[in-house]
Amino acid sequence: MQKRTTFVEVTLITPTAAMSPAVHGNRAKCLQRLIRLEMPVPTTVALSFDAVSKIAAGDLPDMAQVMAPFGETPLLSVRPSSLSPDWGGPAAVLNIGMNDARLDTMKDTVGEAAATALYARFIHAYAIEVARLDPEVFELPAKPTADDLRLALETYEFEADEPFPQDPTEQLEAVLRSMARAWDGTTARLLREAKGAPADAGLGLVVQEMALGVGRDGECGSGVIQYVDSTTGKPQVTGRYLGQSQGRDALGDVEGAIYLTKDPRGRSLEDLSPVIFAELLAYRDLCRSRLREEMEVSFTIENGKLNILDAVKVQRSSRAEVQIAVALAEDGVIPREEAVLRVKPAALSEMLHRQVDPDAKRDVLVTGIAASPGAATGQIVLSANEAQASAARGEPCILVRRETTPEDIRGMNAAHAVLTVRGGVTSHAAVIGRGLGLPCVVGASDLSVNTRRGEIETPDGRILSEGDVITVDGTRGQVLAGAPKMLEAALDDAFQTLLSWADEFRDIGVRANADTPADAQTAKNFAAEGIGLCRTEHMFFEGDRLGMMREMIFAETEEDRRAVLERLLPLQRADMKELFSIMQGKPVCMRLFDMPLHEFLPFDKAGQRDLAASLALPLPDIVERVQALSEYNPMLGMRGIRQGIALPEIYEMQARAIFEATVDAAKDGINIVPEIMIPLISAMKEVELIKARIDAVAASVQAEQRAEFDFKLGVMVETPRAALRAEDIAEYSEFLSFGTNDLTQMTYGLSRDDAGRFMSTYVQQAVYEEDPFHTLDIEGVGELLSIGAERGRKGRKDVVLSICGEHGGSRTAIAFCRTEGFDYVSCSPFRVPLARLSAAQLAL
Ligand code: PEP
Ligand code: MG
Repeated sequence: MQKRTTFVEVTLITPTAAMSPAVHGNRAKCLQRLIRLEMPVPTTVALSFDAVSKIAAGDLPDMAQVMAPFGETPLLSVRPSSLSPDWGGPAAVLNIGMNDARLDTMKDTVGEAAATALYARFIHAYAIEVARLDPEVFELPAKPTADDLRLALETYEFEADEPFPQDPTEQLEAVLRSMARAWDGTTARLLREAKGAPADAGLGLVVQEMALGVGRDGECGSGVIQYVDSTTGKPQVTGRYLGQSQGRDALGDVEGAIYLTKDPRGRSLEDLSPVIFAELLAYRDLCRSRLREEMEVSFTIENGKLNILDAVKVQRSSRAEVQIAVALAEDGVIPREEAVLRVKPAALSEMLHRQVDPDAKRDVLVTGIAASPGAATGQIVLSANEAQASAARGEPCILVRRETTPEDIRGMNAAHAVLTVRGGVTSHAAVIGRGLGLPCVVGASDLSVNTRRGEIETPDGRILSEGDVITVDGTRGQVLAGAPKMLEAALDDAFQTLLSWADEFRDIGVRANADTPADAQTAKNFAAEGIGLCRTEHMFFEGDRLGMMREMIFAETEEDRRAVLERLLPLQRADMKELFSIMQGKPVCMRLFDMPLHEFLPFDKAGQRDLAASLALPLPDIVERVQALSEYNPMLGMRGIRQGIALPEIYEMQARAIFEATVDAAKDGINIVPEIMIPLISAMKEVELIKARIDAVAASVQAEQRAEFDFKLGVMVETPRAALRAEDIAEYSEFLSFGTNDLTQMTYGLSRDDAGRFMSTYVQQAVYEEDPFHTLDIEGVGELLSIGAERGRKGRKDVVLSICGEHGGSRTAIAFCRTEGFDYVSCSPFRVPLARLSAAQLAL
């Protein structure tokens, strides 16, 4: 590209220079703060995002202006400075300005060996980072000799077809240009976008005078110090120091690197130079109180004098992120509001993940790299589309791929865990997996995946097919057969404290979708304010209940059906009572039976034969019944309220179970006002009819048990018509809960079960911005929500409004529900903490 010299702004960092992270990047701004704190920072200039993008486009700053602050023959470093330190950037280049002449003078100042090593290492970095030559031909020993230097110069000349540039200005120009362009590379962009960077994120650069770290007059070396532990976030001085070194050398696996504090394992910087160590310690409180962060400080000692080169936010685990934010707020360094705002909901999700119980038996299928913590169980799927289809059906799945690409991101979003054959800790799957807080094992190279046959083969020859259940343990890097026992995440005090602060700030309720006692317990542990959706039909799959359900389906008459339901009643009552006792008086909203009956019947011949045997019926009767119940569009067919009207005895049994459980719970001192919710409403008359029946059941239970109780009846708004007719529906409904899964399905006319097949294509071609089953469609479905809410309020002033589809815990949906004045959102139990935090962040 042709060099052009347009005006490119260069800023010398001084305490008063006009600088901001949004213009110059975080590193540049942070260096200015260090300078203001009077820390010994070498002379530094900053190039803004704008300047760097001009450089990438071929313009260059006035190099004399860039070099001017550094005086005669300086050695310089260049480092990236983006808005967020998490977004990475091109590698730093050190010792710019080294050349043959400088080598000669430095032989006298720092000694021949050190000067030779500096030069050789600069050539090495320049060749790889700037001239983009093959790293393999530029192997360099840890302590390069004069011969190594000569070889490096010759190799450079041979590979680059030109002598190694001797002019420091030319070297610096090339470094600036190559770093500016590296930012636009695909990998760099993908990596930072996975960490939340916007597509147009800018890069700034800082050019700094080198503090050498090598020399002969007193202590020389470099190191890194931080004042908290990166895993726990608790106070602890950690870091390394290496004499006669530069940059981050001390952090590598190198001989001679020492600890900072006194250490039984050997000499420390504290032993070596107590004065400098004390100086470094003194910066702890300064950094914390003035930069309002826990920083990792890079320093160089040059001839006994300390230089602070840089300070960046300490790299931290999610646990440490929460701990640090809470500790800073508890110490009055930042307000609680800021602590709540600082923690990304995704960090909580990482802390929340379940782990395989250490005592569980492990049937290891294959081992790979532990790329993202936590463990999850699900059915094998081999494509992103299948993952999305699986998620739409509400079935947990594990996405197994040779490797993932950006096209898989939506599939990863839909999966409970990811397993790849290829890749390492920074591969696409690993980076995205960590970003999403998704358990992930990568590089399981002994596994073979045959997508055509829908199978995977383990190293010991076991073949598993799509649909088989496996467990990914992303903490240990293992993939296990089946579903071993799991342990819930261990959440510490800081997590609880942060969420208790979030609860103070948020202005919308958060409940959980919980179907089983285990779900309810999780919801309660995460301080859900109640259960917003209990899909009661899930209880019918437990134990012998499936058999009874099938018996009911095959009952010829209403009387026979009622007889089977009679046997189901005590079981359902016990389930309800258990939920009530776990929730200890918090509201529990039970949705009456929703599923099409045929989902309880076996599809395959073998299952149908077993059923025939267990019901003592001829096989053809079973086959005929299965066929009779099958529908072209089951999701639009005989389900929800339609069964409630056609077969009212099922809802009557459920209502009775709820009321009897309420009376039982009251005897145990748990007073609850149960909420009964009717699914798939589309007309007011449906509610009116069911309400009459439920009222009648309530009256008879009250009479039989001589007990008083209250209950609430409401509906799910999950058909467009229910939203449009919310005003008259609300006449019979104390609450309206928007089921955005079905509402999205019906608003778009998209099948929840099948849309996954083409959703990626749709999103890739920007037909839809996002998968609407994943991200609430504010424009369309949202409008129905607004209409429903407004009309519902017209019908009943104090109607309680909520959302309970899968969108419920997402930030987008919470933001929308807040503006619409909804009372609460309900989401899966593990999303409750994230929803509490997001709701608070939105309120602040
Ligand atoms: C919904 O449709 O949004 C809902 C919560 O119900 P389900 O997912 O059980 O159909
Ligand atoms: Mg629904």
